[in-house]
Amino acid sequence: MLDAATLYQDLILDHGRRPRGYRFPEHANCEADGHNPVCGDRLTVKIREEDDVVVDVGFQGSGCAISTAAASTMTEAVSGKTRSEVLALAQRFRALVTGQIDPSEARDLGKLAAFAGVSKFPMRVKCATLAWHTLVAALEGDTGATTETDE
Ligand code: ZN
Repeated sequence: MLDAATLYQDLILDHGRRPRGYRFPEHANCEADGHNPVCGDRLTVKIREEDDVVVDVGFQGSGCAISTAAASTMTEAVSGKTRSEVLALAQRFRALVTGQIDPSEARDLGKLAAFAGVSKFPMRVKCATLAWHTLVAALEGDTGATTETDE
């Protein structure tokens, strides 16, 4: 029988192997490079933002399955959202993977809730948050993000 943990693991493996949003949007107008020195993950996030809305987003890079899956599910989650919705979601995701909110309180996060288990593996938290750090950096006009200064 499949339990929730297995389903979540399958979702992460699936997105890690076949990432969605693995391309750059046409006419992107924000971008940033992200680096997670702990694991060696590197990615670039590009966004096309119009009237405060993320109309298209994609990424490319190389990293472990968790960083790739996190970037993949992120591109799905933020597409069509406003800048403030995206920033709020980034904070919620970070709280989830660092164990600050219980997975039972994270149902609104949809597929992103699959990453709750990462909180049990402190070394992997930065893998999961890299794409989100990079996305926020791009939206805020920074050209780069690193997990180095992350708690
Ligand atoms: Zn990694």
